[in-house]
Amino acid sequence: MAQQLLRILISITLIIGLAPSVHAKNIHYEGLRIEGDDSFNKQVIKVLKYMKQNARSEYEYVMKYIGRIRPGIPTSINTRARPPVCTLSEKTAFGDPMLCASALVHEASHSYLHQKYKGKLKRNELFAKTAGREAELFCINNSIKLLQKLGAPKYYIDYLKKQDGRHADVNKDGWYDYEDWKLLKQGKRKN
Ligand SMILES: [Zn+2]
Repeated sequence: MAQQLLRILISITLIIGLAPSVHAKNIHYEGLRIEGDDSFNKQVIKVLKYMKQNARSEYEYVMKYIGRIRPGIPTSINTRARPPVCTLSEKTAFGDPMLCASALVHEASHSYLHQKYKGKLKRNELFAKTAGREAELFCINNSIKLLQKLGAPKYYIDYLKKQDGRHADVNKDGWYDYEDWKLLKQGKRKN
């Protein structure tokens, strides 16, 4: 159970765009566009307000590096979209606000890396810098810092500390690529 719950802490970088949700209602919160139904939008705002109050710098980081938030599976980010689009699964959005905040910081960190290196690297190198193992460890570390600031339960942090940054490599061939993405979409990893 705990493993399942905590999987949302280690989300991935989106490879393919997703179709818009049927019940989507776009709303704006301090410049960020949220594109779910009423309950999803309300929930995301609740988490953002929680972050703003309790972890101001991480809140600002999320607002800077994520431009849109939408519901979907898996929790992930499209760093190439303008503005970057973060997808949040229901489990992530409606679970513990601390874990949702952690997922947002994780995804914003991928977006930060993309911004930092875009235009300086070839496409494949940029993807590796943004979504490779080292990138995942960077994102995980930012989540750890946030969770520590929020006074999260020790087992949340311990779980993240045990990650090796390879969680997106579902088929364990050493790379995170389209093959892994297909497996993720088929629910081989349910978050
Ligand atoms: Zn990630």
